[in-house]
Amino acid sequence: MREAVIDISAITRNVDTLLAAVGGVPAMAIVKSNGYGHGAVQSARAALAGGATWLGVADIDEALQLRAAGIDAPVLAWLHDPHGDFAEAVGAGVDLGVSHLGELERAAAASGTAFVQLKVDTGLGRNGADPREWDKLFSAAAAHERAGRIIVRGLWSHLANAGTAADAAQVGQFVAAIAAAEAAGLTPELTHLAATAGALRSPDARFGLVRLGVGAYGLSPFDDADSAALGLVPAMELRATVVATKRVAAGTGVSYGHDYRAAAETTLALVPLGYADGLPRQASGSAAVSIGGVAHPVAGRIAMDQFVVDVGDAAVEAGDVAIVFGDPASGVPSATDWADAAGTINYDIVTGIGPRVQRRYLP
Ligand SMILES: *Cc1c(COP(=O)(O)O)cnc(C)c1O
Repeated sequence: MREAVIDISAITRNVDTLLAAVGGVPAMAIVKSNGYGHGAVQSARAALAGGATWLGVADIDEALQLRAAGIDAPVLAWLHDPHGDFAEAVGAGVDLGVSHLGELERAAAASGTAFVQLKVDTGLGRNGADPREWDKLFSAAAAHERAGRIIVRGLWSHLANAGTAADAAQVGQFVAAIAAAEAAGLTPELTHLAATAGALRSPDARFGLVRLGVGAYGLSPFDDADSAALGLVPAMELRATVVATKRVAAGTGVSYGHDYRAAAETTLALVPLGYADGLPRQASGSAAVSIGGVAHPVAGRIAMDQFVVDVGDAAVEAGDVAIVFGDPASGVPSATDWADAAGTINYDIVTGIGPRVQRRYLP
């Protein structure tokens, strides 16, 4: 057994907790990339139950999957194929994030009235219109709106999380973008800039909506505050049954390259999860898992399908459950612990858990 147990009610409660923390500003729950590995449809429903009023995804295909599952809440999709057709998205009532004139023209050309949310770059240097393009984009959008081809529902941007001063500068740029849009005759009902980190720590960045991703899944975006400090509960627990154990002599080398050698006679437990399942190979030798309520170190290199745990003299047997990560409040390692061990971020850990790991949903 390899499974990611997803606590749906934790997602609902996390969204509710975050909504309270942002003083009732409405929230868009971000369910891109299969709901950060938690299941897009299940996560979307859980977040809506917690009070989110919008859903956000990267790709139109992700938005259409939500629609196919019968979710009719407002959805925004923002990362588009350069030659893709917007007709299906418009037909399905999916709002289009629009970052440049080419996308605007395609949205306007799609049959039906496209709901558009114009994305501006306020300093992330990624997607979104550069300030030098704003006037052209906004006046073209206003013309299409007057002609009834589109409705500009929103104006938005994304923070770089490059520090307090940089965030404040982006807020200033965003205010300038709103003014420029209004000067061009646009009246977007939604303005949004902040993701989880900005929503919690930069009140000025909340505007009319906050976009909650990682926090909804119970993980902290901060180095200096864990889930519990934010009142959040990690929704994913990654587990597997120990498939075999073996008593070995002192000096026994473990896994490829023998990076690990047993210091004394010990018991090795084999866990059927590997880097193909999203466990970072870089965490070899520094991560730990919980078996029988005790944390034991990963011994040697994580392989494609399996890794070894040195459980010492603990009475671990095949069939016991190894908890790789979960809610640290219950004494198990966290996704963030694994991220730290691998030199990455908790987002990378949960989104990377692969399709071979079965998702099991707790109500
Ligand atoms: C992924 C993403 C978010 C969510 O960010 P979190 O840090 O997970 O809250 C918000 N907005 C955009 C544009 C994103 O790409």
